[in-house]
Amino acid sequence: MSKQLIFIIVTLLTLGVFTFTISRIVSFLKLTKPGFPIDRISERINLTLLVAFGQTKILRRPVIGFMHALVYWGFLVITIGTLEMVVDGIFNTERILAGTGAFYDFVMWSGEVFAAIIIISCIIFLVRRHIIKVKRFSGAEMTKASSIDATIALTMITLLMVSLLGTNLGYIALNTSYYGSFPVSKIFLPMVSSWETESLHSLEQTGWWIHIVLVYLFANILPYSKHFHVFMSVPNVFLSRLEPLTKIQNMEEVTKEVKLMMDPDTAFANPPEGEAAAEPSRFGVKDVEDVSWNNYVDSLTCTECGRCTSVCPANITGKKLSPRKIFIDLRKRMNEKGPGLVKEGMSFSDNKSLVGDYVSAEELWACTTCNACAQECPVNIDQPSLIVDMRRYLVLEESSAPAQLNAMFANIENNGAPWPFPPTDRMKWAEEIYTAN
Ligand code: SF4
Ligand code: SF4
Repeated sequence: MSKQLIFIIVTLLTLGVFTFTISRIVSFLKLTKPGFPIDRISERINLTLLVAFGQTKILRRPVIGFMHALVYWGFLVITIGTLEMVVDGIFNTERILAGTGAFYDFVMWSGEVFAAIIIISCIIFLVRRHIIKVKRFSGAEMTKASSIDATIALTMITLLMVSLLGTNLGYIALNTSYYGSFPVSKIFLPMVSSWETESLHSLEQTGWWIHIVLVYLFANILPYSKHFHVFMSVPNVFLSRLEPLTKIQNMEEVTKEVKLMMDPDTAFANPPEGEAAAEPSRFGVKDVEDVSWNNYVDSLTCTECGRCTSVCPANITGKKLSPRKIFIDLRKRMNEKGPGLVKEGMSFSDNKSLVGDYVSAEELWACTTCNACAQECPVNIDQPSLIVDMRRYLVLEESSAPAQLNAMFANIENNGAPWPFPPTDRMKWAEEIYTAN
């Protein structure tokens, strides 16, 4: 079988598995509720350029942030070379972009430099994770599987870069005149100067195949790991909320109920003939089918970096809450319940729920809604709004709130104010002033 045919089969298999994975995610997405509208497009484009491509939030921690940004920018450049490899593989060509002259020189040159930077960065990231054991990477939600996931991804990225440099080294060693500029591979040229043509050809081909197979494997592993952010971070930043973080959204369901109460004709009107009465929807978020699509996309984008948890005042002061855990839990719960909901419909139940079985009331009530987590998140995940929605479920559907809050709710209901005094006593504080005058 020719190299071209093998490559086409491998590419089709990869696309098949990838399409299956994405259609599964889309089917889960369809289970979620509407989110906020996608408007103010120019603002969104600016935000994406700054936060996603410019990595501005990552760069708040200058040293490690800069290394992460270099890895990200490097990936963007190297992707051009990878696309060239795919086209070469399918059409049995060699370096199809070589005719682009100075552009090709620039892409190859920067790709090599970035490959070297990425290798060094990945080694440093592995050392931080496994030897220095940075606190941010620990926590109840950071399981062994999560650590293995990160290690596999960092190792794969390193191998991707090594194989890329190996391919380039074979290429420049085989050809006295070649296209492109390869500053890093050139350094290693003396090491292979005595190699036979056949060995150099094997080096180039082995590097090429290892690189492309790793790219394909990586693309299919990513959606099942925290590294899905490689795909998701740009769309998630583009789709993130533009309103001030402190603005708490009104509940549509409550607004509707109030409107119905204010307009009894509508409230007590019979539904039009042939139509069933509207089912009252759930207040707040109990399980995955109650979250908005923004929440679910956020959960797919979470890199588990722990920046949110590291600035959370509740977590810092020893409370059980970790904003990172909330989104890891949402992703896990969707993977658990999503297939049942897709197969059997929205009435499917496995007698478990996100609130209660995954996220406890203790975690939810520890949140001060300070928004430090959302401010810090490098991919613009909105943690507080999901926490507030889960609390809304506890209050409105379970009548479950801390005693202090229940007392305040009772006061609002009875006195029209959060204080335990009837409205008739409201001016008592001023009585002495009136008497004195
Ligand atoms: S909003 Fe809540 S979860 Fe986020 S940092 Fe503040 S206390 Fe922690
Ligand atoms: S929510 Fe954001 S800050 Fe927190 S772990 Fe996920 S990506 Fe990092």
